[in-house]
Amino acid sequence: MKTIALVWLRRDLRLHDNPALQAALAAGHIPVPVYIHDKAESNWPLGAASAWWLHHSLTALHADLRRHGSDLLIFRGEPLAVLTQIAQTLGAACVHWNRSYEPPLIERDKTVKQSLRDFGMPVHSHAGNLLREPWQLLKQDGTPYRVFTPFWKNLQKVSVLPAFDPCPPVLPAVPKTKLPRLTPAQLALLPRIRWDKDFSKHWQPGEAGAHAALTRLCADALLDYAQDRNRPDLPGTSRLSPHLHFGEVSPRQVWRHVQHWAASTPARGALAAAEAFARQLAWREFGQHLLYHFPHTANEPLDTRFNIMPWHTDYAADLRRWQQGNTGIPIVDAGIRELWATGWMHNRVRMIVASLLTKNLLIPWQEGARWFWDTLVDADLANNSMGWQWVAGCGADAAPYFRVFNPVLQGQRFDPDGAYVRHWVPELELLPVKWLHQPWLAPAAVLDSAQVRLGTNYPQPIVDLAQSREMTLGVWDRVKRQSR
Ligand code: FAD
Repeated sequence: MKTIALVWLRRDLRLHDNPALQAALAAGHIPVPVYIHDKAESNWPLGAASAWWLHHSLTALHADLRRHGSDLLIFRGEPLAVLTQIAQTLGAACVHWNRSYEPPLIERDKTVKQSLRDFGMPVHSHAGNLLREPWQLLKQDGTPYRVFTPFWKNLQKVSVLPAFDPCPPVLPAVPKTKLPRLTPAQLALLPRIRWDKDFSKHWQPGEAGAHAALTRLCADALLDYAQDRNRPDLPGTSRLSPHLHFGEVSPRQVWRHVQHWAASTPARGALAAAEAFARQLAWREFGQHLLYHFPHTANEPLDTRFNIMPWHTDYAADLRRWQQGNTGIPIVDAGIRELWATGWMHNRVRMIVASLLTKNLLIPWQEGARWFWDTLVDADLANNSMGWQWVAGCGADAAPYFRVFNPVLQGQRFDPDGAYVRHWVPELELLPVKWLHQPWLAPAAVLDSAQVRLGTNYPQPIVDLAQSREMTLGVWDRVKRQSR
């Protein structure tokens, strides 16, 4: 008779290329997929936009599993207690899961694993969410990387990835149980005030949505990825980030799909395009590598010289204007409003808005990271901490402290026709492109005929860009000298 294996699903909300599920099947068990919602799992509780995504991702996974003849048992509570109760009730023989790499989750998993083993329950953890485990890719001297390029070179050397088994079309049925299982709706992940009403126009959470995004990338965007990936006005990137964060698709699937596309695409530049894309995927690996080896970086700078950074303290009003997309700097307001409306912001614009916050307004990067955490559907502790520290100049491989993004030049370069700004900041729609990224310099007659009244229907800039840049460079210079 077949025995039961619990498959504890966490950030691997998929059926295909799921090593934990495959291992349970390969050992001849009946896999029982379990999701446990634990509000206290981390000191970074799920943000509101991520909670929206999770609701829909669990709903999709539940339906997929049922279509395959299986089921998803959803619970709320402390994982060890829940797993023990299910294992006892169903008479499970073992537990499988795919590893998570965030520091609090590693600690939780260690405790759960040890405690279950102490009860005599075998536990098997698998590698399923990265191309390489963070401890597998180290410098020659055995220490972790702090700089991206050598990390990337090493990753390329070892990344001939094995094929994976697709999920069989039919899975064994899950035994009936009287356990108090929940529906995704009972987890109450959706917001009470429905600010999310437009999200579903932009996203299809779940494994099918992830594969649709991957197919779209290869069909429409990949060949021009190297040129277009910095253009927020074009659909030049994959938008796979929330799917990757929730493990609806594995990085191995993405990597292999893109390699296969490159090998089967005769157009010139396909190989280079695939490599440019893989390089970005490698940034995701690098983020996980950094957080794993330097766990303090979720809250503090990797570069400890910047612990003494004299940030402004009286910044509540400026922070609010930044969060509301009312800074008077068009590309920044466009990005923040895109984030609010869709739960996502283009990477180039993330860098620009983060630079304004940390380098022109001298607001601590942690404030920006917290706002992103709550509003991004792809909020990811590793990528978010790395991204913010990169821009603030205090992380690994960081943009040098003296590089302050000029949002006017960035806008003119990466949104050259102004389509992105016009879309998200309709107050400026009629402004000629010459003035669109710097309306405060436009002649009064131009503003008038574009119906822009600065300070009335669109704000004056929150800060003088040139002056604040000079001030910040002075501050950073002092910090550097003090910490020598
Ligand atoms: P694509 O260009 O299609 O790239 C493919 C995949 O590679 C992405 O889905 C992502 O998983 C990975 N990737 C691409 N660029 C980066 C990068 N710079 N760093 C790490 N991984 C990358 N990404 C998140 O997933 N979650 C976050 O919370 C997050 N916060 C960020 C905060 C700041 C301040 C900055 C500057 C960047 C942040 N990023 C974050 C990285 C990046 O902006 C997003 O991964 C990217 O915009 C996602 O869009 P995409 O899927 O279309 O990317």
